[in-house]
Amino acid sequence: EADRLIDPEKRGEDLEQSLRPQRLDDFTGQAEARANLKVFIAAAKARGEALDHVLFVGPPGLGKTTLAQIMAKELGVNFRSTSGPVIAKSGDLAALLTNLEDGDVLFIDEIHRLNPAVEEILYPAMEDFQLDLIIGEGPAARSVKIDLARFTLVAATTRLGLLTNPLRDRFGIPVRLEFYSVEELELIVRRGARIMGLGMTDEGAREIARRARGTPRIAGRLLRRVRDFAEVAEADAVSRDIADAALTRLSVDSMGLDQLDMRYLTMIAGNFGGGPVGIETIAAGLSEPRDAIEDIIEPYLIQQGFIQRTPRGRLLTNRAFGHLGMAMPKDLEA
Ligand code: ADP
Repeated sequence: EADRLIDPEKRGEDLEQSLRPQRLDDFTGQAEARANLKVFIAAAKARGEALDHVLFVGPPGLGKTTLAQIMAKELGVNFRSTSGPVIAKSGDLAALLTNLEDGDVLFIDEIHRLNPAVEEILYPAMEDFQLDLIIGEGPAARSVKIDLARFTLVAATTRLGLLTNPLRDRFGIPVRLEFYSVEELELIVRRGARIMGLGMTDEGAREIARRARGTPRIAGRLLRRVRDFAEVAEADAVSRDIADAALTRLSVDSMGLDQLDMRYLTMIAGNFGGGPVGIETIAAGLSEPRDAIEDIIEPYLIQQGFIQRTPRGRLLTNRAFGHLGMAMPKDLEA
């Protein structure tokens, strides 16, 4: 599954960086988050103070990293970036923190995967801009306090529920990102095509947008694959037909669902009569980690109304059966 085309998880793609909007005004969608951030940034700048700590919550590929970078730019401060799993020891975090200057943005992606010992030293750093370090071992060990610059922590997580309460409480500005509308993705696709120098019809852009699973990262990835098809076909511009042919060839269906999404839906429909079925059973049936299912597959299926989460497990909706071309079992009809 490593090559899952619509996998919204990051992979090293050079173009990803060049497609990234650089300013808040170039950032499409997330109107509410953008408006709020604008106010907080302006206020922090006017007061000459560091912005309060910000927590971005939302599925992968919706623009959390991009917004963090934009915030640093708008604030006119340095941007330092790391991620939860990368910070193995308290010393790693201490090194990062002591290198920050006043106002700097420290971005920690996947903060829910921070090791608890590291998380412990983040609390006083966030609250009092102090580092409490234990130096030495055994009876000779002593604690030292180091003053830190007044920095802004910008953190991102795909799963708010996996954050400990004390950590969650230390963010003054929680921001939830939502899936993008087709219209917003269309603008993002057209902008991407412009940057790539690729001819794009309105219908072509709409087709890619409709099949991007509400996610700008996927829109960018689909755009690159469609470009390959357009070049081979020697087309001047991406028409709806070219986009459709390319995406169908890539097994992205008319709703933007890929093979894994379809395996998920088909399994619940076929093996479990539409549910309800527990997440562990689904994970075992698909041979996929539970995390990936909850972080990547389900949010979009829920948002699109294909499944419901109930206390007894996941339940397919009428819409899902319709998409699979199957009749809904009688006992599920509410
Ligand atoms: P996340 O951190 O939430 O996983 P990123 O910020 O890394 O997502 O964004 C993924 C990709 O999508 C990047 O290439 C970025 O350029 C693009 N992207 C995200 N949001 C937008 C947006 N609002 N407009 C245009 N491109 C976007």
